[in-house]
Amino acid sequence: VRGWGEASALPADTNFGVLQAIHGWGFPLPPVELCRSVEEMLAVYRAIEMKRASLGYDIDGVVYKVNRLDLQERLGFVSRTPRWATAHKFSAEKATTVLNGIDIQVGRTGALTPVAKLAPVTVGGVVVQNATLHNEDEIRRKDVRIGDTVIVQRAGDVIPQILGPVPDQRPPDAVEFVFPTLCPVCGSHAVRETHPKTGKVDAVRRCTGGLICAAQAVERLRHFVSRHAFDIEGLGEKNIQAFFDEGRIRAPADIFTMAARDGADLPKLSEKEGWGPQSAANLFAAIEARRTISLERFVFALGIRHVGETTAKLLAKTFGSLDALRAAMAEPDAADLRAGDELLLERASADDKRTLHNAIILAKLNEIDGIGDVVAQSIVDFFDEPHNREVVDALQRELTVEAYKPDQVSSLLAGATVVFTGKLERFTRDEAKAQAERLGAKVAGSVSKATTYLVAGPGAGSKLKKAEDLGLKVMTEDEWLEMISSA
Ligand SMILES: [Zn+2]
Repeated sequence: VRGWGEASALPADTNFGVLQAIHGWGFPLPPVELCRSVEEMLAVYRAIEMKRASLGYDIDGVVYKVNRLDLQERLGFVSRTPRWATAHKFSAEKATTVLNGIDIQVGRTGALTPVAKLAPVTVGGVVVQNATLHNEDEIRRKDVRIGDTVIVQRAGDVIPQILGPVPDQRPPDAVEFVFPTLCPVCGSHAVRETHPKTGKVDAVRRCTGGLICAAQAVERLRHFVSRHAFDIEGLGEKNIQAFFDEGRIRAPADIFTMAARDGADLPKLSEKEGWGPQSAANLFAAIEARRTISLERFVFALGIRHVGETTAKLLAKTFGSLDALRAAMAEPDAADLRAGDELLLERASADDKRTLHNAIILAKLNEIDGIGDVVAQSIVDFFDEPHNREVVDALQRELTVEAYKPDQVSSLLAGATVVFTGKLERFTRDEAKAQAERLGAKVAGSVSKATTYLVAGPGAGSKLKKAEDLGLKVMTEDEWLEMISSA
């Protein structure tokens, strides 16, 4: 509670003195004043409240403390609350102003957030022009309309909020805000999900055009090239952002046309700052090496909401090939139509047909063990969005997506138990473990008589000693690699 941690001997016998000493050692301090009366304390409170807007960080009040440490000691605590300190909060600042409009911002994950555009108003010393409205339900619940005079609050550490309208100041032409169902950035459909267990509809509406939506593009591209997706070496977060900003890569397929376009509309990559002929050639080679990819990695890379590696693999296993997956998402199998569906489809309008199709596809996905409602719905939404289909089309023109191959478990290490210890230099622990398991071994965390191999890197300690005592087979990382390379 004192805030200076543990000390063997304090540099002063007052709170103020200790803080001054700490300050003298070079640590920055928040504003601290020594007061000798309640009047002085209140004067400081008001002075800080005035300065609050210019502090560079948000505060919600001040804390008064008894200065003498021996008196603090005597006063002590009530449970965890000190009797020698008390907080005095600033009141939340409020003001009224006119709501001129509502903008929709699209976040990095595709969430559509309504932002109130206000006639500028000073709240607590700060001019406020924007305030959050959270989501569409909130707008409806508060019955905030465009043109309304609204109450704005800035409470210490939070973004300005709209508390509600002033009803008797509502102009006759105030209009209710219609929340968009299309993403304002990319025009894709924006949907609200239903929670699988509670059946409640998510308060947040999200853009389904992740792959083409500029608001989400960098995030998605990052995912696309990440380790469990396309795993392109040399195309890290920084490069993705830089390539996106200069227009070198805007959509996933651009990665694979980058070498062919090099020097055409932008300067050659090798001439870009921080790059040279060798590093550019290395990157193009790394990209080239991923032109053929497994179906499950491809599906995972698409970044379909809720579709992680496990679901991607399930889809790959169920449908076998990308073409088969896409065909199944485009139109339901005739065999999956229930009695009456055909007649319905015949009479339906194009929109109704699509809805009915999607319902049948959804049910089909739902039958896959391990795929629930929400996941199935995201997959249907993803492939229902024309923009996403175009992205997949473009990728298919550049790539070979391999048909699903069941895991081939090698038997080289069948029945063996492997323990890794020390620092591995060629791969991470996770990679080493996965590799050993693929070859049929069990990976254990500790050495015992059941251990077959101990792979010891630099810095191996007690495990190495125990293995030697037990007379077990101990290998270096290189020896281990050599052994498994024959698999
Ligand atoms: Zn969008």
